Amino acid sequence: MMLFALLVGSLARAPWAGPSSDKELKLAVVLVVDQMRGDQLARGRELWRGGLRRFCEHGRVFPAAALTWSGTQTAPGHASLGSAREPRHHGVIANEWTEAGREGSVYCCDDPSAVVLGPAGRLEKEAGRSARLLRGSGAAQLWKHCVPQAKVIAIGGKDRSAILSVGAGADLAAWWDRERGGFVSSTAFVPRLPQWMAEFGQTWPVALRRSPFAQGWQALPPGGVLPADLSPDDQPGELGLGGRRTFPYDLPATWPGEGQSLDERSRARLAGWAFVTPACDWLVLELARSALDRAELGADEHCDLLVLAFSACDSVGHSFGPSSREVLDVLLRLDQELGLWFDTLDRRLGEGRWLAALAADHGVMELPERDQTLSRWDSESAKVFSKELRSSLTAEFGADLIAAQDVFGLRLDRQRCREKGLDLERVRVRAAELARQRLPRYLESAWTWDELRERSRSSPSSDLALADFLVRSFDEERTPDLVFVAARGVLAKSIGGTTHGSPHEYDRSVALAFLGPAFQAGWDSRPASTLDVVPTLFAAVGLGRLEGVEGRSLLSP
Ligand SMILES: [Zn+2]
Repeated sequence: MMLFALLVGSLARAPWAGPSSDKELKLAVVLVVDQMRGDQLARGRELWRGGLRRFCEHGRVFPAAALTWSGTQTAPGHASLGSAREPRHHGVIANEWTEAGREGSVYCCDDPSAVVLGPAGRLEKEAGRSARLLRGSGAAQLWKHCVPQAKVIAIGGKDRSAILSVGAGADLAAWWDRERGGFVSSTAFVPRLPQWMAEFGQTWPVALRRSPFAQGWQALPPGGVLPADLSPDDQPGELGLGGRRTFPYDLPATWPGEGQSLDERSRARLAGWAFVTPACDWLVLELARSALDRAELGADEHCDLLVLAFSACDSVGHSFGPSSREVLDVLLRLDQELGLWFDTLDRRLGEGRWLAALAADHGVMELPERDQTLSRWDSESAKVFSKELRSSLTAEFGADLIAAQDVFGLRLDRQRCREKGLDLERVRVRAAELARQRLPRYLESAWTWDELRERSRSSPSSDLALADFLVRSFDEERTPDLVFVAARGVLAKSIGGTTHGSPHEYDRSVALAFLGPAFQAGWDSRPASTLDVVPTLFAAVGLGRLEGVEGRSLLSP
């Protein structure tokens, strides 16, 4: 693993001879919309008037873009995009995982040696956050290797999206504090919050009160006919928000009178509400505007990199599904705000002096209540399955050998296996057999760690069978002893709403588009993935070709 870490990020010295602008590029912006599938960009095409329209009309769009790995979650999505490598190489295989000989689970951004920084100082009680679990180089190291004086900044709704999209060495990774409001960072990036971020921590309620969300979240009038295949505002299967399933979604607090400031409790409520509505995306762009001014992004001849991670599509999507009126509204608002943001970039940096990529970290499944070919994994049979598997193994080996189990896999208790003198591989094989025998409707397959390791030693086939997606997410230390794959069309969520995480095509589908002087306008049907984002930006800026990564430049024919 060490050798690999050294190789990654080594760059070809040969000058880039491909297309690039004769004008100096000052800023590359990567916009990552959590849970946005490729079909969602196309579906709203007639309705976009702002930033998404710019991508659709003047940019290069890759409607067939799909992830190539199975861990279709936020952390692997952002880590893979930023590092241009698959989870099998950077090791962030999921949002959290278990490790042999370790109690509990490991969160993808855990770092006990780091301290979260809020506007008022160190938040010692919060769990520390950094990109230390991301192996090899992330986007910041790749970028700065070529442009050492460049600034690399990420701002996002979630800690994992901001931190993992840029990785170690970034000048700043900032994320929304859903408990207190304002954006926070970590000592892994800065010794203290920059002044402009600390100020935002005080002023965000004032900004929100002047924002389109001052009176809550209402549906934006769509400037055109709604797509015919859109769900009605109230669709069976929706989980809702604050006990409601239809617009409007009211603020959870009332604004104080003139000259009075918001009390602590109302602040906390608004912070939590903002996180689960498109207000979060609006706040990310507000902070991005401050970053442009105060961190002087794009101010000199060194092309800076800014990643903006928008999480509302995911939080709203989980509750309402990708075809809901609510998710369409999230995207209509994002379209509008991105239009204003691009106008700002044109004014400040000059037209043609910046590039943008639009991408997503993963896709999502439709609500089964809307699509009759889909079904829900009922929690009762999932419980029965877990219980039976545990008791069968216990009966066979004379001890409870399961340390942890969830919908994605199972980890054995290695110490107990050792104490019993059991061969780990034999136990895994037997557990897989038992799981396969008991395989209820909702499971497609169960793979052992050894089977996946064996397969990972030969390079994955290019036709990409289900197992190849699993192999591309395989990590010797972090992959559990048994990996479960839910059957296609079966949703591992029984109470309503939807989710993602499987290797099936709906979870791997992602929006992908580029905008800027190097990109010829058009819809490009070639296969592509978010691994290609950073290599494509490298080529478009004229930084050369990235070696040791799986992504490739989409500028090349
Ligand atoms: Zn999600």
